[in-house]
Amino acid sequence: MQADLIIHGADIIDGTGEPRFAADLAICDDRIIAIGDLSRWPAGRRIDATGLILAPGFIDPHVHHDAAVLTDPDMPFMVSQGVTTIINGNCGFSIAPITADNPLPVQLRMIIGDDLPRFARYRDYHDRLVQNPPAVNTACLIGHSTLRANAMADLDQPASPVELAAMSQQLEDALAEGAIGLSTGTFYAPSRAAPLTELTALARVAAAEGTLYVTHMRDEGDRVVEALEETFAVGRDACCDVHVSHHKCAGLANHGLSQQTLQMIEDFAADHRVGLDTTPWIASSTVLNSGRHRQATRVIVAESEPYPDLAGRDLSDIAETWNCDLDTAVDRLMPATAIFFLMDEADVQRILSYRQTMICSDGISGGSHPHPRVWGTFPRVLGRYARDLNLFTLENTIQRMTSMPADRFGLGARGRITVGAFADLVLFDADTIREGATFETPIRPAEGIAHVFVNGREVWANGHATGQRPGTALVKTTPGKVVSVSDKRKTL
Ligand code: ZN
Repeated sequence: MQADLIIHGADIIDGTGEPRFAADLAICDDRIIAIGDLSRWPAGRRIDATGLILAPGFIDPHVHHDAAVLTDPDMPFMVSQGVTTIINGNCGFSIAPITADNPLPVQLRMIIGDDLPRFARYRDYHDRLVQNPPAVNTACLIGHSTLRANAMADLDQPASPVELAAMSQQLEDALAEGAIGLSTGTFYAPSRAAPLTELTALARVAAAEGTLYVTHMRDEGDRVVEALEETFAVGRDACCDVHVSHHKCAGLANHGLSQQTLQMIEDFAADHRVGLDTTPWIASSTVLNSGRHRQATRVIVAESEPYPDLAGRDLSDIAETWNCDLDTAVDRLMPATAIFFLMDEADVQRILSYRQTMICSDGISGGSHPHPRVWGTFPRVLGRYARDLNLFTLENTIQRMTSMPADRFGLGARGRITVGAFADLVLFDADTIREGATFETPIRPAEGIAHVFVNGREVWANGHATGQRPGTALVKTTPGKVVSVSDKRKTL
């Protein structure tokens, strides 16, 4: 047998949670073709990986890089962490389909990016990614707020029957064209007026296509329990698999509440399919005028359209300089995004440790001072939480980053190291891995990541993006199952 590449002497953690084992691994084209003692195999290239861990490339189930995959296709902030597959279109905001010709809601512009290319159909966006692939594999949810912006005359109202029918049709079309589910963000103004019946009607469309209802819930602070109950009601009424995005208990008064919320999720999981993801930080990040500055102990401005120089400054300092109150400063800085210190470390650790929890960065790229999670999430969990604090074994940590999201979102032959799987791989040093990004210096690659491969091609090597862009635009082909375009071609 002839391999393109043999990675020699690593400890392999295969993503299933099973203990590591020492073996060589061979790649040919975009697949893993052999695992074992391959010392006699000829290969185009060999990497000596003695002392390193070889794992499936990490899957980030929750990012806002819908536009970044087009504008920054090397995706250094993702591949430098070992991430090889991302899921876009979260929190109710997706870049496609956009048929509205009026100005888009400011939250949509701030979260996904300004000057958005407009894709009238989901397949237009998908085709663009096939023609100009980024470094990582991508899948996408369809955002409820995006559908509302397309269909509704007044976003401050519940959808009328006619508007709901238009949104349902647009969602159904997008799911048929390969989107992998529905996301909602009733926390945000464009969807805040949506009642349970509107959410349930759309979740039924998602369920009929065998896809998920993924939600940034209406409240993650004082009313997080009620918001969870609403999410479960959608799952029950629509018979839909639900997924709670970036679960947190925000605000001082709600610290400790994760004991109750996780028990609620555990109880619901007894007879329904439910999952969740979270980020490993006590600070969150979103649009500045989300109201969160009133709950936060500290707010850092991440990006401001009218005041780009103030990125990285504390909101309280800016208000003091301007001699105004915080609300006035927020209004002047908009459109803007910010970092909010809202959570308790004990809640963060409790949510991370819960058996069903996956890891996500919730990254919004762009701007000069993003949240450090954009560059640092996965290495932080591997370094700080797995190695230093021993919250979970390395095998279990990697499972939460690979097979767990692959299975949950139906990503086909991804998230596991096995013969025949796509060669999405990360090679790292478990003793030294840590995030480089901090709140002060947020744009900095992680330490300890040696090589990253997507579909058999190297995208990150020793501190640098290679410039290769082998990412596949993943599509849904049969209910609950997602395969790559090349797979689809083979099965047709
Ligand atoms: Zn969100």
